[in-house]
Amino acid sequence: VLQRRPPRPHRLMVYCCPGTRDHGPPIRIMQWNILAQALGEGKDGFIRCPLEALQWQERKYLILEEILTYSPDIVCLQEVDHYYDTLGPIMSGLGYQGSFLAKPWSPCLDVEKNNGPDGCALFFRSSRFSLCSTAHLRLSAMMLPTNQVAIVQSLQCRVTGRRLCVAVTHLKARSGWERLRSAQGADLLHSLQSIIARSDTALPLVVCGDFNAEPSEDVYRRFSCSPLGLDSAYKRLSEDGCTEPSYTTWKIRPSGESRSTLDYIWYSRDALSVHTVLDIPSEEQIGPDRLPSYHYPSDHLSLLCDLSFTNQADVLT
Ligand code: NDP
Ligand code: CA
Repeated sequence: VLQRRPPRPHRLMVYCCPGTRDHGPPIRIMQWNILAQALGEGKDGFIRCPLEALQWQERKYLILEEILTYSPDIVCLQEVDHYYDTLGPIMSGLGYQGSFLAKPWSPCLDVEKNNGPDGCALFFRSSRFSLCSTAHLRLSAMMLPTNQVAIVQSLQCRVTGRRLCVAVTHLKARSGWERLRSAQGADLLHSLQSIIARSDTALPLVVCGDFNAEPSEDVYRRFSCSPLGLDSAYKRLSEDGCTEPSYTTWKIRPSGESRSTLDYIWYSRDALSVHTVLDIPSEEQIGPDRLPSYHYPSDHLSLLCDLSFTNQADVLT
């Protein structure tokens, strides 16, 4: 008997009343670990996900559908192992300018019939922004280069002339590596600080990433207490405005079920305010087999928010 799947659950954009007046149209940001094809099929062992739901030929359309549905101005992705053959060309056809940085020793390369290394990708809408500069960083920890990377781009809004610095990263995974993650975060903050110091105009910051760290970890504290004045956008979804969601990833592996908050959108809290955030699907919407599934192409949920500048631009070019 042909069993039709129910439609994908709808996610609501939740309005967060900003405390200050904002200026110019909001900037929509997406953060998403899309699950590397080689890792999903060859390493992760998602025992409750049907094999057909992991096929790239189907999964790529769900990923693109999600991007097209919300139409972000800036898209920050991790675990991209189909940049050159799929996402790069398709996103370019959709009006985005992209940049990709592979991990130096991607674990995808250990998987048979892999499609090359996975890495971070950053896309921005070309009609909205022009590119001022790009930095491709290999993150260090205790002075040693690591296997984790970040892309940092300075963009200028074509409408208002305002500048924005956007970064995407994917920190070291797994428990036992908390100190390495913290050191990688410190290195990224240090690089961002020097990029901002070199700018002659104010440069508000957005940092998107799979930090592989719960809010209780040291790297989270580093980001929330840094002199850069960053706050995490998804706290705005909670009732008290200061609690992260209970999960951004939820999966079942042979080792058991794992539900955790690892993904964040950090923003300069003085220069930018959060207008709206896309809600997190409920346990019922995610379903008993958790992620990924026919409805959700990755084991991580996409995060999406609208940010706007809090102050009138003092520099209009
Ligand atoms: P990480 O530990 O950061 O993890 C890599 C990927 O594995 C992440 O995308 C992560 O996903 C995913 N992952 C996390 N937990 C699990 C799990 N329980 N089961 C399956 N996948 C999981 O990897 P590194 O970047 O440090 O690289 C490690 C690998 O890279 C090694 O296994 C080796 O293959 C290779 N390597 C090779 C080197 C060489 O000299 N040849 C040097 C260094 C690494 P998520 O972020 O979603 O949790
Ligand atoms: Ca993963």
